[in-house]
Amino acid sequence: MLYEKYKCFKSIFFVQHHFFIIMELTRENYNETAKELLTFLQNSPSCFHAVKNVVDMLTAAGFTEVKEEESWKLEAGGRYFVTRNQSSVIAFKVPGKDFKGFQIIASHSDSPTFKIKENPEMEAAHCIKLNVEKYGGMICAPWFDRPLSIAGRLVVSEGSRLVSKLVNVDRDLVMIPNLAIHMNRQVNDGYAYNAQKDMLPVFGSLEAKGTFMSLIAEAAGVKEEDILGHDLFLYNRQPGTIWGADETFLSCGRLDDLQCAFSSVKAVIEGENSSSISVAAIFDNEEVGSGTKQGADSTFLKDVLERINDSLGRTREQYLMAVPSSFMISADNAHAVHPNHADVADPTNRPAINEGIVIKYNANQKYTTDAVSAAVFKALCKKVQVPVQTFTNRSDIAGGSTLGNISNAHVSLNTVDIGLPQFAMHSPYETAGVKDTCYLIKAATEFFNSCIVAEGNGNYSLGE
Ligand code: ZN
Repeated sequence: MLYEKYKCFKSIFFVQHHFFIIMELTRENYNETAKELLTFLQNSPSCFHAVKNVVDMLTAAGFTEVKEEESWKLEAGGRYFVTRNQSSVIAFKVPGKDFKGFQIIASHSDSPTFKIKENPEMEAAHCIKLNVEKYGGMICAPWFDRPLSIAGRLVVSEGSRLVSKLVNVDRDLVMIPNLAIHMNRQVNDGYAYNAQKDMLPVFGSLEAKGTFMSLIAEAAGVKEEDILGHDLFLYNRQPGTIWGADETFLSCGRLDDLQCAFSSVKAVIEGENSSSISVAAIFDNEEVGSGTKQGADSTFLKDVLERINDSLGRTREQYLMAVPSSFMISADNAHAVHPNHADVADPTNRPAINEGIVIKYNANQKYTTDAVSAAVFKALCKKVQVPVQTFTNRSDIAGGSTLGNISNAHVSLNTVDIGLPQFAMHSPYETAGVKDTCYLIKAATEFFNSCIVAEGNGNYSLGE
């Protein structure tokens, strides 16, 4: 609703556009955005569902699908999207043929979870349990003792065709029960979870034997015998919530990184400028190293940028001139200082929830941020009064990596690594702040509204 209002302002009174952009965030508008984010997260139990929901947002905003397998005829003023593997999507807006570069926000669609193996049913202790394996690096403990379910995609035979279908068993279906403390007195002293022994979810009594695939088929509305392939994952059933004495926190599964993905899509729908291609890229498989055909370590982004260039009748040299004139925001959530573990945070760079967008730094360039890209991003945020914070790891603790440096190996351009501050990263129930999504939407929209012109040697001009 907030952005509907904004759209009206923008079309009716162009001059009011900046007034709206810089006006103070109110509790009413950030709560509205927080609720919208929670709905998006709950409707996105797998990376396939997340991309489907992004595609729906883009389609409703007038974006047209172009397919990698077909010829592209792009037009000035056009808005487009392309998907790969149903789990990665790139949306872009074309101002015209004479663009200077690309302004890109990258994020990821996947989250750590457990994947259902082939032939998953196992009989044990009067129960049927499911054989699963880890997808990504999760915190195991919070997966226990809570209703879980299963979502993902199926590939189904339809005559001579093989067709992909999304499936979500939308009910409390499985559970991973803890072992009683009486049988493991040391559990609170730290426990090494064995993925093959401890993490297998209970599916039903012995009565449920042989029913797993028929239950999945029924949920997808297909015949069991027609299912030839599946990518199915566990997800947490606990609904998202806004909580705290002053309703300041927001918790749900998959905040990392759907909070950034959602914000980037909102921004690419609202923002645009006359000198560059606005791009929102959401990649799958970040949590397992990005090295798949649809991950950030694939040719997906490069292929799309080259095809935009080519289909507008531009030369190879024009593409090679456009890339160094481009800018990327690699947006992946960041760690807020934990109230019970403040000592593991860096002594001087200490992000807090609801205090703005986090710029991430790392001397070894696990994060791409440098003086130039940090300056560009800070200048953008300052223009719309969005607060920024900084993150580095303690010098004696190794951190994670993300999309920016991996993507830069394929398309090399000035990049800043940022994220929204959160607790409990890689838990199936993560916590962030109600205000921060609005901050990122605001800054990202300003990014797409600005003409960021590289003058070479780290010099930039930020125009309207
Ligand atoms: Zn992430």
